[in-house]
Amino acid sequence: MNTRIEIDAPQDSGESPETTDYNWEYSPAPERMQVDIKDRYGLFINGSFRSPVSKKYFKTVNPATEEVLAEVAQAGAKDVDKAVEAARAAQPKWARLKPTERAKYLFRIARRIQERSRELAVLETMDSGKPIKESRDVDLNITAQYLFYYAGWADKLDYAFAGARPKPVGVCGQIIPWNFPLMMAAWKIGPALACGNTCVLKPAETSPLTALRLAEILQEVDLPPGVVNILTGAGATGQAIAEHPNVKKVAFTGSTQVGKILAKVCAKKGKHLTLELGGKSPNIIFEDASLDQAVEGIVSGIYFNQGQVCCAGSRLLVQESIHDEVVKKLAHRFESLRVGDPLDKNTDVGAINSPEQLKKIEHYINVGAAEGADMHSCPVGDLPPKGYWCRPCFFTDVQPSHQIARDEIFGPVLAVMTFRTPKEALELANNTPYGLSAGVWTDKGARIFELAKKLDAGVIWCNLFDAFSPFGGFKESGFGREGGRHGLRPYVAL
Ligand code: NAP
Ligand code: MG
Repeated sequence: MNTRIEIDAPQDSGESPETTDYNWEYSPAPERMQVDIKDRYGLFINGSFRSPVSKKYFKTVNPATEEVLAEVAQAGAKDVDKAVEAARAAQPKWARLKPTERAKYLFRIARRIQERSRELAVLETMDSGKPIKESRDVDLNITAQYLFYYAGWADKLDYAFAGARPKPVGVCGQIIPWNFPLMMAAWKIGPALACGNTCVLKPAETSPLTALRLAEILQEVDLPPGVVNILTGAGATGQAIAEHPNVKKVAFTGSTQVGKILAKVCAKKGKHLTLELGGKSPNIIFEDASLDQAVEGIVSGIYFNQGQVCCAGSRLLVQESIHDEVVKKLAHRFESLRVGDPLDKNTDVGAINSPEQLKKIEHYINVGAAEGADMHSCPVGDLPPKGYWCRPCFFTDVQPSHQIARDEIFGPVLAVMTFRTPKEALELANNTPYGLSAGVWTDKGARIFELAKKLDAGVIWCNLFDAFSPFGGFKESGFGREGGRHGLRPYVAL
């Protein structure tokens, strides 16, 4: 941001005031840690890395530079067979292990992740495009916290399900997306292993490297072979895992579209299933709210991980009387967002994960303008010549019928709408097929509790986001909960 500052000339010089341009741009603060990345990675099956039977590999790319980071194996049906067989063979022994021993492995994995957290954060940023300050301060912390948390439950399952004798369900097929790659892996394997299950995990095609690093950590802590198997690959690999007859439980985080496919697969074969899907979450601001605080929360919610967050507050419902003031504050806050090199510690908004995702976001930005909404774009300077970049923006004059108000965009695009009464706010908020999260900004505690009861959302933002609190959705945002004691339930048979 260039700021023009007027300075009074000394009184006695007789000169007129001079004008100086100060450039207030932050100096670059790149994260300098060098991370070793192999040219090629195999599949992690039965405790070791192997070449794929399929003989196929695909490239994973740094979305901020378009540089190829590595080639990664593409697991085919025979590879899935091998991984599921390894998990099936390892499961009875793993389940018979003393629960305190299972906990020790989880504690060791968590501690090793903490010890290697800087390296993992850099790798996550390089492979996914998210700003280093997010990978470092959010993803890595939550990853370790989940594993520590579920390690603590391993020997207390009888207390978690009082009166029942919880048993593991068996081999779990776990399929995760690209927006929080390592964190999602921890969310999946933590409760599964604590309950005595074994896993076949598939990271997303565009962000496989931290899951492969996790495989190295599993080797370092001597996790028994076959307990966790990590298969890289495409959608077909995920589907083959879900369809495999020896996979007893499927845990999926991703799009509602794929979630519906997996719901059919699991219904036909009688498998346990949990789905964490998409969202179009509302933030509601009432006129009595602390507006600066609300705007800060809303802006950080929509640019966090470039808006590629399932529970991002992508709809903003503003009480009509404060609409203009909120829009002014939003525009002002957008001016100071820094978009660019994700490895720079000052960057707020990094690169979009893939060209396909960028195309989807750009499509919606064009649709928003064509539908008659007013676009306000973040006035960032030049963006790097290579990479997948999107200027954060928000739309005003949005109607609830507009596509940008209905569809999940999964990018830094906010749709602003108005309401007059709490009843209207509630109707607008619930007018969506999704039901993942919601935020309420008001000075009145009673109004928060009243709305929280009536909002169709799995999470109402109040204060915390941590391993102790259950997370998950209603309606087309999925079912089942991850986190907290609730997150154990899908991994036990009672
Ligand atoms: P996606 O296409 O559904 O992909 C998610 C995962 O499923 C990836 O590993 C993907 O593999 C795999 N996959 C694709 N097709 C499959 C199939 N037919 N059978 C089995 N697995 C399949 O989702 P995305 O576009 O990558 O991720 C963004 C979506 O995830 C958004 O809608 C977002 O809301 C949702 N999400 C939800 C949560 C939550 O907790 N509720 C968290 C994060 C993201 P490939 O990568 O190889 O295609
Ligand atoms: Mg990548």
